[in-house]
Amino acid sequence: MKKETFVTLEQLKEIEKTYPTPFHLYDERGIRENAMKLKQAFSWNKGFKEYFAIKATPNPFIINILKECGCGVDCSSYTELMMADKLGFAGDEIMFSSNATPAKDFEYARELNAQINLDDFTHIEFLEKVTGSIPETICCRFNPGGMFKISTDIMDKPGDAKYGFTKEQLLEGYKILKEKGAKRFGLHAFLASNTVTNEYYPTLAKVLFELAVEIKEKCGVELAFINLSGGIGIPYTPDKEPNDIIAIGEGVRKAFEEILVPAGLTDVAIYTELGRFMLGPYGCLVAKAIHEKHIHKEYIGLDACAVNLMRPAMYGAYHHITVMGKEDEPCDHMYDITGSLCENNDKFAIDRMLPKIDIGDFLVIHDTGAHGFAMGYSYNGKLKSAELLLKEDGSVQMIRRAETPEDYFATFDFCDIMK
Ligand SMILES: *Cc1c(COP(=O)(O)O)cnc(C)c1O
Repeated sequence: MKKETFVTLEQLKEIEKTYPTPFHLYDERGIRENAMKLKQAFSWNKGFKEYFAIKATPNPFIINILKECGCGVDCSSYTELMMADKLGFAGDEIMFSSNATPAKDFEYARELNAQINLDDFTHIEFLEKVTGSIPETICCRFNPGGMFKISTDIMDKPGDAKYGFTKEQLLEGYKILKEKGAKRFGLHAFLASNTVTNEYYPTLAKVLFELAVEIKEKCGVELAFINLSGGIGIPYTPDKEPNDIIAIGEGVRKAFEEILVPAGLTDVAIYTELGRFMLGPYGCLVAKAIHEKHIHKEYIGLDACAVNLMRPAMYGAYHHITVMGKEDEPCDHMYDITGSLCENNDKFAIDRMLPKIDIGDFLVIHDTGAHGFAMGYSYNGKLKSAELLLKEDGSVQMIRRAETPEDYFATFDFCDIMK
């Protein structure tokens, strides 16, 4: 599939007059259309709800768009709960899926009446101790161990993952939670990340639905919801086809009818906690070529760096790059596209074939809408960029200003040191 940008060169030239590069740009239309399609894909399930994983794109304007599309939020920390609270989410609109959870995070989650997803068997006792009781609604996270396979393909290794209860702990856990007064139960698992296959959710659903039947038989607990969590991926590379969310919803429906319905579990709500799928393709990092360098390799230096997008440096992740205005020119130049950090892994692309790049060219780095800006850090004293929203009417709204040096110095008290 040819990877297209959702913004044109003409639009970028216009935007640049107000907002200098680098910046992250988000596509409101794309976000809304995709969210509606997800809803449609699971419309067969009465209680279906997507809880957007705040950590993927923790921007209140973005989250508010998803709220308007009927989504809740998945929080993993105290400050993410604050974000949810400030945006008016409460109770069943919040999943709290954290791990190694501090006491004050659990306390805050209880205050908001959020649906707490326990990461470990010992957290039953911990939660009861720090908040005084077990809430009526409670969810447990499952880790089956071993390998997670789709037919013969190894998707991930839950056996090496720090998350979740073992099956034995889970069966014991639900019994204890029931004794302690819980009334509405959920089951959660996140077994593979960025899957670009329509089989992930249906395969995971089968595992969890069979477990739900066993939980009913062995613990006398009928689950109210099953949370398939995140993990539906996006095609970062042009050779991959995007997931078909309608086919995915249909695959989960089939498993539901084959496994849950005959066991009398017809009212189970399906939850999702997608991050990447909801936002990934609908954000990009816009930067400019500010240097070219000819040594043992050919380098193009950008005004953005790994502080703005860490995935290539951290995971060697591929992000497609479009040199704006040169979409139809031959990719006959091989470049390393770099940022300015004093770290040799600060490269957005290595040995990438691109059209000839000139100083001043706009480069659009694709698919940065999820786990992009959010992962940024402040190494080398580099500041985080602005985030801009390309609205449905074509106008642009700044939804987070760029950091200034004052932000960087905000946690020091210079008065103290100069005394
Ligand atoms: C990160 C995360 C998600 C979102 O994952 P994506 O890969 O972005 O879909 C959902 N749930 C939990 C518990 C997570 O940690």
